[in-house]
Amino acid sequence: MLKLLLARFQQGHRTAQYPEMPPTLPDRWRGGPSIDRGKCPVGCFECGDTCPTDALRIQSGHLGLDMGRCLFCTECMQSCPHGAITFTQEYRLAARKREALVVEGKVEPREKLLDEKLRRLFGRSLKLRQVSAGGCNGCESDVNVLGTIVFDLGRFGIQMVASPRHADGLLITGPVTENMKLALKKTYDAVPEPKIVIAVGACAISGGPYIDHPEVHNGADSVVPVDLYVPGCPPHPFTILDGLLGMLGRLESEPAWMARFRETGERIAAENLEAMKTWDLPRAEEAVKYLGADLRHAPPAPKDPLPVEKPRS
Ligand code: SF4
Ligand code: SF4
Repeated sequence: MLKLLLARFQQGHRTAQYPEMPPTLPDRWRGGPSIDRGKCPVGCFECGDTCPTDALRIQSGHLGLDMGRCLFCTECMQSCPHGAITFTQEYRLAARKREALVVEGKVEPREKLLDEKLRRLFGRSLKLRQVSAGGCNGCESDVNVLGTIVFDLGRFGIQMVASPRHADGLLITGPVTENMKLALKKTYDAVPEPKIVIAVGACAISGGPYIDHPEVHNGADSVVPVDLYVPGCPPHPFTILDGLLGMLGRLESEPAWMARFRETGERIAAENLEAMKTWDLPRAEEAVKYLGADLRHAPPAPKDPLPVEKPRS
């Protein structure tokens, strides 16, 4: 027991600083796709034949990649002889509209906000019932990970609950198999109004690797209306977290206490800057060194050197 406590003590603070700080992702992690149109010759569709889920298509003369179908397997990147497709470290991939998941260039983090009324209702407390509608358990694992100390979903007021009657919405994974269709519909009906639905993973968005299989229904929105799509196979926990927080308006809004802190800090910095303008250069440099201040935004130094103030003896 003592050893356990000691190990825990040595581990220190493990919770990610997100959203205050951007997350650290492993180099080999494959995030949002990027298509370089300049390198993609007209009429070429060599990558299209390699895609297992038909996520690539030519629309309006341009190559488009549907993240809702994509398994992020990078087969298309490897098969493209022109190097037009790459995968970036962009993790902010969730979108409110299905069509917003189609990428023709670079992924831009999308507006995910719920309407004002729902945000006021769920913004500070959201209870979700997770429904596994026939997936491979990859997405379920990454949803479970959100409850660990690294992500600590509870600190944002978001919790998974056991009963749909205690939930504000559903978080659905899996392509919705025939056997799960009725269960999903009944669970949805059991959630009191107003409610929201989040589809997590390629399966829940489009059927993913099981697309068009006779026993699956190609995603959650074939059975229930979906409010947020989180792509990936499986999505990174930060992609899910970013989608949830973005939808609830928790990424855009600055809490009142933080705004007060920032305003006070800015006022003190401005006053100090004014005072420092009256100082001679060595004294100002000394103060900057001492405070570790950032002078990149400081106004230019006065043209006429200011009189040096002699220290009083
Ligand atoms: S990375 Fe996505 S678009 Fe490319 S081949 Fe794999 S599934 Fe298809
Ligand atoms: S999207 Fe991928 S990881 Fe998630 S359930 Fe489907 S196959 Fe598994």
